[in-house]
Formats: sequence, C-alpha cells, structure tokens
Amino acid sequence: MRRSDGRAARVQHFVDLCRAHGLALTVQRRVIFDALVDRQDHPTADQIYAVVRDRLPGVSRTTVYRVLETLVQAGVIAKACHPGTAARYDPLTHRHHHLVCLHCDKLVDWQDPRLDALPLPRGATAAGFEIDDYSVHFRGTCAVCRARLGRTGRSSGTRAGRRESEATTRPRRAPASKRRKTP
Ligand SMILES: [Zn+2]
Ligand SMILES: [Zn+2]
Repeated sequence: MRRSDGRAARVQHFVDLCRAHGLALTVQRRVIFDALVDRQDHPTADQIYAVVRDRLPGVSRTTVYRVLETLVQAGVIAKACHPGTAARYDPLTHRHHHLVCLHCDKLVDWQDPRLDALPLPRGATAAGFEIDDYSVHFRGTCAVCRARLGRTGRSSGTRAGRRESEATTRPRRAPASKRRKTP
C-alpha cells in the first residue's frame, strides 16, 4: 500500500507537482497539504479548516476551499466524493476504492487489483462520454454501526437490496506535458 511510502516521499511529491504546475509553495498550501497528508478518514473542507485555522491565523473557510480545489486540479490530492454529500478530500491520488458507511459517513480506502482492471463501459464511449478514471464506492454499514444497530452475523449484508456499489468517475490528472491547456 502506498500509505507506507512515507511522509517525506509524499511531501516531496507534493513539492514536485506544485512546481510542475507552476504553483508557488505558499505557506497556506503547505499547511493545508500537511493537514491532509497523514489522514485516512477523507476529511471534508470544514474539517481541514478546523485543523489549519490555528496554524494560519486569519485564514478563511473560503480560502481553505479554494486551496483544496487548486491542489485537486494539480493532481496533488484527490476528491473522494459521491453525489449528495460534501466533498471529501483524499491524499491518495492513485486509483483506489472506498467502503462508505451510510450511517456514519465513514469512508475507508480499499485496494483490490481486480477492481483496478474493470472493463470500461463501451456504450459510454459510443454516447460520446469520455471516461478519465473511476473509483468504486461500496456502500453499506461499518462494523461499529452494525454493532450499534444490533446487527449480528454475516447475513445482514447478503440481501441484494442492501448491497450497493457505484463507480464514480473522477478526474485523473494526466502528466503535465499531455494535459490540455485550460484557460
Ligand atoms: Zn458507520
Ligand atoms: Zn481514498
């Protein structure tokens, strides 16, 4: 798992990507990236804001949102979101998947090489839709919530109606040299 690549390597990757995209290494960007890099809970922008506002006196919520979006655009971080919920930010930018608890909004990284090699739907291409990337969200109930709700055994998760998964597309940044110019 890339998590074990170590913080130093990921900070260096951040520095390299900022440089490649012509983003100045401002204190704000650095502190906001620092607040996210070690987290595995996919925090919302508000949660990041709560952490950084002590280190960045006078920083506004809007600024934190803007910096996060800039870092997403540069491919430094990713967004792990699904429709209808607040965007969740993710320090992992390589293809991976998520287990989503519908009761407590917990979002857990999930790696599975079989999911990395799903065939893309040909019909989408025929319909003119260009797929950049995908990640699979498996929605259900986490162990803590199952205990809280008094669900026991393995049977509760096996009814088809309780199984939901969805593949969401999210932008994957191409290498800087291959990216189309955006205004
Ligand atoms: Zn839960
Ligand atoms: Zn993730």
